[in-house]
Amino acid sequence: MGSMTFPRRALLGGLLAAPAAAQQARREFPTVPPDYLREPPDIPGFWVSRPEAIEEFLRTRVKKGEVRRIGTTAGGRAIHAVFYGRPRTGRGTATFSGALGFGDVRAYLGPEHEKRVYLGLAGVHGGEFEGMMGMVNLLAVLETGADLRGRPWPGIAAAAARVDRIIAVPVLNVDGRARIPLRMIAHRGDDFTVHEYLNTGGKLDGTLIGWPQCKQNIPLDFSTVQFPGGYPNDAGVNVQHDDFLGNQQPETRSLFDLCAAERPDLTINMHTGAQFMHPLRPFQEPALTPWFETYYRRLQTRLTQAGLQASADPAVHSDPARERLSVYNLDTALNLHCGTLSILIESPSHNFSRAKRNGEPFFHSPENLLDAQLIAHEQALAFLAETGGRSRWTAKKA
Ligand SMILES: [Zn+2]
Repeated sequence: MGSMTFPRRALLGGLLAAPAAAQQARREFPTVPPDYLREPPDIPGFWVSRPEAIEEFLRTRVKKGEVRRIGTTAGGRAIHAVFYGRPRTGRGTATFSGALGFGDVRAYLGPEHEKRVYLGLAGVHGGEFEGMMGMVNLLAVLETGADLRGRPWPGIAAAAARVDRIIAVPVLNVDGRARIPLRMIAHRGDDFTVHEYLNTGGKLDGTLIGWPQCKQNIPLDFSTVQFPGGYPNDAGVNVQHDDFLGNQQPETRSLFDLCAAERPDLTINMHTGAQFMHPLRPFQEPALTPWFETYYRRLQTRLTQAGLQASADPAVHSDPARERLSVYNLDTALNLHCGTLSILIESPSHNFSRAKRNGEPFFHSPENLLDAQLIAHEQALAFLAETGGRSRWTAKKA
C-alpha cells in the first residue's frame, strides 16, 4: 500500500454555502506516511477518542446529563456539550469588565453568584486524544459512579455533589480530530515525531512543521503542507490562538456564548504535550493567581502521590514557581470574557514516554493517562467545592 486516503467528507450541498476556508477541509492528504497511521494492536475499551464514538457515547450512555449541540465547526460538524445540575439563573447588572471596575464581580454574576459552576473542555487541538478520552470517562463517572474500566471514583462523585453545575465539552475542534483517522497512535518509545506530525503537522517534504513554528501561520493554508495536523479547524485556525477580539472562528463563538450563559467559575482546558502532567500558568487577572497556585499545588501533590510525576517527591512537583506565564491565548480570552479561572493542563502522550528523574524508564500506559485525567477533574471539582468559586475568590472587601 503506497498511500493512505483520508476520509472525505460528503459534499452535501456544500459548494454553494461553504466559505473558501471550509473547502480546505475537503482536501485529502495522500502522502502521509502509512506507517504514521498505524494503531497499536490492543486498544483498551475505555479509550473512546474518535468523534463518531464520542457522539455515540453521548447519544446512548448519557442519561442524567443533558446533551446539547452548542455550535457548528468551520467544517460543518456539530459541537456538543453535556450539562449536569442547575445553571445560574438571572443576570447581573453589569458587564464583566464593569463589575471589575465597580470592584465586585457579583454585579456580573448576578443573583446566583454563589453557585459553583465547572466547565471541562477538551479537544481544542484535535491530535491530543487524552483529554477527550478523559472527558468521556468523566461523563461515565458522573453517570454511573465508575469510569469505563469499571473503576469507581467516589471523590469525583462527592465533589460533583457539592458543585451546582457541571458542563463538559468533550471535543471543541471536531474538524481537527476528524482529520486524524486513528483511535490511538502506536507507541514509539521515546520518539515523539509521529505525535508531533499528527498534532502540529508536516511540511510538503514530510519534515515536521514543529512547535511553536506551527503558530507562525494562522490561518494555515493547507496547500502549503503535507498534513496540517490536528491543531487547526477546517478554516486553518488554531482556536487556542484565535483572533478573539476580531474575526472569531465558530468554535470560539460557540464557547464564548456557552460561557456567557453559564458564567463558569473554573474552566479546565485539557491538552497533550508534556512529559508528565502539569497545569500552565494562565495569562489572566492577577487576582486569580493565588487560586491558580492553590489548584496547582493540590493537583501536582495528588499526581505525585499516585506515581504519575517524574519523582516521588511532591515538594519538587507542586511548586507553582516552576511555571512561566503563558502568552495571551484562549484561556486569557475566556477569563476576560466571563471571569472564569481558565487553566490549561498538559497531559503526557500515549504515543511516547520519557524516563523518570532517576533515569528509570517510565511508560505512560493508557491506564496511567486515564488516571491522571480523572485526578485532574476530581481535584478541580473538589477545589471548586471547597473554595466556593469566583464570587468568594475575589470577594469585595468590606
Ligand atoms: Zn494543545
